[in-house]
Amino acid sequence: MAATARGTVFGVAKSRSAGIRNTSLVAAAFLLLSACGTGFSQPDDGRKQVVTTFTVIADMARNVAGDAIAVESITKPGTEIHEYEPTPSDMLRAAKADLVLDNGLGLERWFDKFVQRSEAEHVTLTSGIEAIPIQGGEYRGKANPHAWMSPRTAAVYVTNIRDAFIRLDPAHAETFRANADAYLGRLDEIDRYLREELAALPGEHRALVTCEGAFSYLARDAGLREAYLWPVNSDSEGTPQQIKATTEFVRENGVPTVFCESTVNDKAQQQVARETGARLGDVLYVDSLSGPDGPVPTYLDLLRHDAETIVAGLRGAR
Ligand SMILES: [Zn+2]
Repeated sequence: MAATARGTVFGVAKSRSAGIRNTSLVAAAFLLLSACGTGFSQPDDGRKQVVTTFTVIADMARNVAGDAIAVESITKPGTEIHEYEPTPSDMLRAAKADLVLDNGLGLERWFDKFVQRSEAEHVTLTSGIEAIPIQGGEYRGKANPHAWMSPRTAAVYVTNIRDAFIRLDPAHAETFRANADAYLGRLDEIDRYLREELAALPGEHRALVTCEGAFSYLARDAGLREAYLWPVNSDSEGTPQQIKATTEFVRENGVPTVFCESTVNDKAQQQVARETGARLGDVLYVDSLSGPDGPVPTYLDLLRHDAETIVAGLRGAR
């Protein structure tokens, strides 16, 4: 049933139209906005200003910051992040921030040139995480960027945020430590829930089939076999070869339920389900949180929603 609503949850799946493609345009926009006095300003309450590339790490950062630091995401809820193109006002926000937090591992392909033009300090939150290589497609061999999708690897993000905030605002170090500890405890609860529930399933059901190959870290940490239609959201999604390979995996492994994610079209996965007799499970959330009234307004909601959806889908018999 979720399939009919999917794709309309956020209205717009991809955000390509507002992009900027050359440096001179960015510089001109910067000058214009500055001259008009419409540029973003520091919060006047004296708090440090932190900018993140996407909603998931903004939410983690807010949990560690509490009220001590102002945190804002450049991309909005529901945005397709892999192919995002920053706008002139995005560039301004990053330039004026005290600290920029990014995911790294090639997630924000748009981000490298973006950060090069900003003088703000930036911290890459996947530092210290052992990357899993992408298995196919044009990015074969490059790092899979979706390390936040496992609660265990997300713990590394949280400690990196905590340490960056202590450097940025040492007066609130105790707040950041306490908030990070509490948050790490919540991540650990979800990790344990998922591993215990999956361990109770028949071995052949422990396979996760999705649209994007975004669950490699979760699959590794939770003991799931993994298959997906395409490795990374890009222009080549749902080709006949990708559908054929996924259909074969589902048949050979007797996978009861296949899944797709909120920011992409699930048409190809519907076809896999039709051809194999597997169910199409409830939508999974990966690359973006929902808005405040949606199903996953926070990152912990996203992890819990996905863990429960995966467990419920794989529990069912064929
Ligand atoms: Zn993704």
